[in-house]
Amino acid sequence: MLKEPAPFWKTKSLEEMTAQEWESLCDGCGRCCLNKLEDDEGNVFYTNVACRLLDDQSCLCKSYEKRSYLVKDCLVLTPEILNRVSWLPESCAYRLLNEGKALPLWHPLISNEADTVYHARISVRGIVVPEKEVAEEELEDHIIYWNQLDSQGR
Ligand code: SF4
Ligand code: SF4
Repeated sequence: MLKEPAPFWKTKSLEEMTAQEWESLCDGCGRCCLNKLEDDEGNVFYTNVACRLLDDQSCLCKSYEKRSYLVKDCLVLTPEILNRVSWLPESCAYRLLNEGKALPLWHPLISNEADTVYHARISVRGIVVPEKEVAEEELEDHIIYWNQLDSQGR
């Protein structure tokens, strides 16, 4: 019996991946596109308030190619900066691989289905409110904790 070759994310380092491979690591959860708050001690809190360019159904960016031009806070991830980005969610494939961990079974590269991210309750679909509806001083009222959301179901 012929053995399947190991997938690229197991054989290549993040730096060795092609642009296409790198992009395919993103599971499209949309978590990193939520507004975050940081306290004096550097702790980062996610809110359910989405960037104005996030499509709340697909959880993809509506203007991906121009994202850093259109949204000044939008960070374009590269292998070089991963170690300096402490706020990526624990579920993020870039963070997982950078920490030497495996991709989860719900990741589209393994499940071959984009929707497994939603069914595993990783996607922000159904939990976000648009940025334009929330004043900056109200952001604190929108803090979310992933574990709580997971246990409450959606
Ligand atoms: S948190 Fe990671 S996997 Fe999810 S959308 Fe952002 S970059 Fe992609
Ligand atoms: S501009 Fe950046 S933060 Fe906003 S939706 Fe697009 S990728 Fe996410």
